Amino acid sequence: MTSDISKILFTADQIQAKVKELAEQIERDYRDKKPVLVGVLNGAFVFLADLMRHLDLDCAVDFVSWSSYGKDTSSSGVFRIMKDLETNVESKHVLIVEDIIDTGLTLHYLLDTIRARKPASVKVVALLDKPSRRRIEAKADYLGFQIPDAFVVGYGLDFAQRYRNLSCIGILKPEIYAGRGTPPDEIE
Ligand code: 5GP
Repeated sequence: MTSDISKILFTADQIQAKVKELAEQIERDYRDKKPVLVGVLNGAFVFLADLMRHLDLDCAVDFVSWSSYGKDTSSSGVFRIMKDLETNVESKHVLIVEDIIDTGLTLHYLLDTIRARKPASVKVVALLDKPSRRRIEAKADYLGFQIPDAFVVGYGLDFAQRYRNLSCIGILKPEIYAGRGTPPDEIE
């Protein structure tokens, strides 16, 4: 699997150290707030699983899954809810857990949807951020790493559902997706 990676951006050790650091900040800010951690499926499940095990907090966990409408969605920002929250987040402190912020459209839409449910607060922790690709304002309150404009896999992030099990994060070799004739960010 790692032979399909052109460059490792973050090793497993670097990721684990960063996740622990993020958990420490979150723990300080959320003491006595009983947050609801909202993982964005599928990519964030590995990050969320590691993050929550570092949190010495009374917290709940739930998941959402959004799907974009076809290829043009990244420009239209139209999303379909595949799996909604099971938790009523009204008056609760919500912490959205994202794997990566790219165009920002997913996070923007998710924030709107959750705010409409009148939580006590809503914040975002993202492991990765590609600010150069932003189409709409979207910002993590807690951020792991900024990365350049490249398609990355590993640590929950996939290409065609593969590579999620890599413990590092790396740039996928373009020849892996070249045969499909479509850049990875338009395939999901
Ligand atoms: P956005 O709406 O911010 O453009 O997209 C966020 C989602 O796009 C992420 O949750 C992730 O599923 C996907 N994505 C964006 N960039 C990458 C990337 O470099 N690698 C992978 N595997 N997924 C990405």
